[in-house]
Amino acid sequence: MEGLFFQKERVTAHIVTPDGVRTERPIEIRTHPVTGRRCRITFSRSAEKESGTRNLPDPPPHAGRTDLCPFCRPQLEKQTPRFPNAFHPSGRMVQGSSVLFPNLFPYAAYSAVSLFDDRHFVEIGTATLPEYTDCFLNCAAYLKRIRQTDPAAVYMGIAQNHLPSAGGSLLHPHLQVHADRVAPNHHRFLARRTRHYSDATDRGIFSDLLDCERRDGSRMIGRTGGWEWLAAFAPEGFYEIWGILPGRTSLLGLDASAWEDLAQGVLNTQRLYRSLCRNGYNFGLLSVERGDSCLELRAVMMVRSNYAAWVRNDHTSFETMMGDMATFHAPEETARLAIPFWQ
Ligand SMILES: [Zn+2]
Repeated sequence: MEGLFFQKERVTAHIVTPDGVRTERPIEIRTHPVTGRRCRITFSRSAEKESGTRNLPDPPPHAGRTDLCPFCRPQLEKQTPRFPNAFHPSGRMVQGSSVLFPNLFPYAAYSAVSLFDDRHFVEIGTATLPEYTDCFLNCAAYLKRIRQTDPAAVYMGIAQNHLPSAGGSLLHPHLQVHADRVAPNHHRFLARRTRHYSDATDRGIFSDLLDCERRDGSRMIGRTGGWEWLAAFAPEGFYEIWGILPGRTSLLGLDASAWEDLAQGVLNTQRLYRSLCRNGYNFGLLSVERGDSCLELRAVMMVRSNYAAWVRNDHTSFETMMGDMATFHAPEETARLAIPFWQ
């Protein structure tokens, strides 16, 4: 029998503080209802102001050096690669202000970069809805073209590393688009898990998860069109937020309004992160483009370490060696902070 469980347990560390007081430090261990992975919430750190988050960091010193950036014009034309003629006759794809071209350093058989526009440094929370929508639409057009060229490349994803602290090589904002015949780990796991769940229940796991979350209410944030936004129950990143489009499994079948609604949720999340003085984040949206896929569409966003001098990395040996993400804030608090940005 498949299950969807929201498990929490608490453990307590007993310490004597430096001023001699015996005290208890609770740690909550949560198990992810979909993946079964555990994470930890170390509440005692939530009151501590992390380094580099008192204010939104200033723009980096090279924020004005558009002449050094291959994504800025006029360099774009000469310094970025093009698609082979057979894939796209004009070499690069354009949608409104967005330009999409192959990744010079591909991570998959199909790996592209989609620019929002010619703006080189865009402070978090200041992007516009049309530029995000166009960029997503350009990614969708690229994925549709892959579908026609190589129908076996079903493992598709759109992702973003905003600023180098989140993994971005270049400051200039862009989305990454990937497709491959070989499944990345998350696709591989989620394809299997959602298939087993659907076989056992005849339901979509993310639809059911949303039902549970709606009943509970403490992590629900709001809607943008058909997308429903919530704080992840067992986060694997700081201030992790999900946007679920229940019942939909294909990125290729979304219409322009669904992409615009997704863009609105991403911008709302950015404005939340800005209010928390965070400037780096990751975004991701995965699909398995098979007719029988049970993996419903779910966008994930999480804060990464600030891109500022001498800020510590958010992945410590606890994440890399013990394998549990340790965040500091309850997801219910993340939802409470996020709700105003959806109104
Ligand atoms: Zn640039």
